[in-house]
Amino acid sequence: MTRPFNFSAGPAAIPEEVLTQAAAEMLDWHGSGMGVMEMSHRGKEFLSIYAQTKADFRALMAVPPEFKILFMQGGGLGENAIVPLNLSRGGKIDCVVTGSWSQKSQKEARKYAQVHIAASTEASGYTRLPDPASWDLSSDANYVHICSNETIDGIEFQTLPDLQALGSKAPLVVDFSSHVASRPVDWSKIGLAFGGAQKNLGPAGLTVVVVREDLLGHALDICPSAFNYETVADNQSMYNTPPTFAIYIAGLTFQWLKHQTEGDLHGIAAMEQRNIAKAELLYSAIDQSQLYFNKVDADCRSRMNVPFFLRDESRNDAFLEGAKARGLLQLKGHKSVGGMRASIYNAMPLAGVQALVDYMHAFEKSQA
Ligand code: PMP
Repeated sequence: MTRPFNFSAGPAAIPEEVLTQAAAEMLDWHGSGMGVMEMSHRGKEFLSIYAQTKADFRALMAVPPEFKILFMQGGGLGENAIVPLNLSRGGKIDCVVTGSWSQKSQKEARKYAQVHIAASTEASGYTRLPDPASWDLSSDANYVHICSNETIDGIEFQTLPDLQALGSKAPLVVDFSSHVASRPVDWSKIGLAFGGAQKNLGPAGLTVVVVREDLLGHALDICPSAFNYETVADNQSMYNTPPTFAIYIAGLTFQWLKHQTEGDLHGIAAMEQRNIAKAELLYSAIDQSQLYFNKVDADCRSRMNVPFFLRDESRNDAFLEGAKARGLLQLKGHKSVGGMRASIYNAMPLAGVQALVDYMHAFEKSQA
């Protein structure tokens, strides 16, 4: 049986091999007599899953030793509060607003910090990235926040800004929720990165935080203990009960990722190669069509989230119905922008994007 291709923005498709293995281990993990959901987080079985998952993430993503990897709860929106509670010191922060998610982040941070908008593309409708050379960075900011892939607007930083070169001494905080593990990360430019797991890493409920050690230990007094990065780090992410099943599925996903190859490339480098090919296929189909269009400048289009619109919006429902009938699921755009959105995360094979492109051609022809 072949499964439909699932283009959800998140929670999103999980590699079939991962689901198959989880199903096989559901009642009895490795002869323990227990399913992973039923294990104590402090027992040796789960501790081995946790250690392997963390080590695999560090190796896959080439996370340097001076960074801690934390497995938390609260999601991306939780981090919008947790980051300023830990890093703002109650003072100033710089925010770069490039889409819906960075907009939400700066609003939430205002509860805990003095927010300065260093750059915003809101007025022009989030269709491009502001040139970092034009950012109005503060000399006394405690960090600079960006969202490196805007899931709703389909905008992605192709390189991270080098804050030092721009004259800022502040650490860079990156929301990489919707493209984590889709491409390598330049950790030399980052102080902290966070992401919900439910797009590229596994199920909802797990939030991965990667934080440079020197940024620990400055939380505001009002910061909940379970969200204090230093407390979480000191307790190996077990101060409170971590999302054990989500960590396990993320671990299986990391093992799947390790085994991906494209030519001589493997792991994240192979994933990046495949993701480039998928995105090129879809964007060129959109650009060559008379019916579909995408609004984002070519140099900052997201490889993961591809929003597109039909010139005749009255055909939207017919497009979605026809897609579903062909096994192409969850293509409806975010309610705030309308149209369509194809999220093509790591678990989406090139064949899935090809099936979508074939359908888009056929639908366009049928409208002529
Ligand atoms: N940041 C980004 C970039 C996202 O895509 C999302 C979820 N779509 C969030 C934050 C919010 O994540 P959560 O719903 O897990 O809080």
